[in-house]
Amino acid sequence: MTVAVTPLAQSLDSPDWTLLRNLGIGLVVVLWLATAYWTFKDARRRIEDPWLVALATLVGLFPPFLGPIIYMFFRPPEYIQDARERELEIKAMEERLAQLDQRCPVCRARVEPSYLVCPVCTTRLKSACPGCGQPLESLWQVCPYCAAAIPHGLPSLEDLSAQTPRTSRRAKASDS
Ligand SMILES: [Zn+2]
Ligand SMILES: [Zn+2]
Repeated sequence: MTVAVTPLAQSLDSPDWTLLRNLGIGLVVVLWLATAYWTFKDARRRIEDPWLVALATLVGLFPPFLGPIIYMFFRPPEYIQDARERELEIKAMEERLAQLDQRCPVCRARVEPSYLVCPVCTTRLKSACPGCGQPLESLWQVCPYCAAAIPHGLPSLEDLSAQTPRTSRRAKASDS
């Protein structure tokens, strides 16, 4: 008789239901820890400061499930590695631009790579190839335009760039 009165209560107390409930709780806990772990992993890729990463992980844990969503609103927009790569790219681009924007070492006037002499202050910028007259870089051992060997006694900007390591490297190379 009593069995017929409370069929629902009886089914709640049955071992089947308890197992199901425990499984459900276990699943929710695993899901909760997984979202917190995801927050930690994502924060580590975006934030350099370990304290801020710890704080983000804490937000990922509490409040459960809502924390990772809150974190997503405030996380840095890009990965640390992407930011570093972009910085390197910008630096390389600046170097390329600096190479294009050559200036006279004496008067800072803008000069073309083909100039032998600064047109403003008449400073000798490069030496001319004895074979074809093309401007030569100080490091070159041979003229790339006519394949003539470059004698090292050539009047060049040796005196100008005596302090730069470039000169000493060239001297060493020609000695060997
Ligand atoms: Zn000049
Ligand atoms: Zn030449």
